[in-house]
Amino acid sequence: MAVVNSLENVDPRLVSFFQDLKKNLPSVYVFESRRSVARQAKLYAACKAGTGSCPAAPPGSSAHQYGRALDINGFSAERDRKKIEAVLVKHPEIEWGLTWKSSDPPHFQIRNWSKGLSLKEKIIEGGYWVWLVIAILILMYLNR
Ligand SMILES: [Zn+2]
Repeated sequence: MAVVNSLENVDPRLVSFFQDLKKNLPSVYVFESRRSVARQAKLYAACKAGTGSCPAAPPGSSAHQYGRALDINGFSAERDRKKIEAVLVKHPEIEWGLTWKSSDPPHFQIRNWSKGLSLKEKIIEGGYWVWLVIAILILMYLNR
């Protein structure tokens, strides 16, 4: 469950935002981009158990699983806030986790990212295949 930080298969609007941010703030780098359902489950469990960092969305409901979020490091939210907000103004489709109730300063994602997810994305990246397998096993059991 390695941390993935490549911009491959990441929403092009986020890639363009990151490139723009990097021009204005060269120290920034992508810490994590896409995330597997297994890693999301692990992070969620660690947050709930108090052994990991929070916030962490339940598996299936993180934008990271669908290439619609980036965790960016290499900046100070206080010192660089104005610079980052100036870049965000040019990318109105991106929202920053800093201002959330449960603040997440490294996190940037597509606004309303879950809109328009395909069934295939939900089943594969979202991990809903687990439930499909369970449903099939139950049906097989009932029909035996
Ligand atoms: Zn994140």
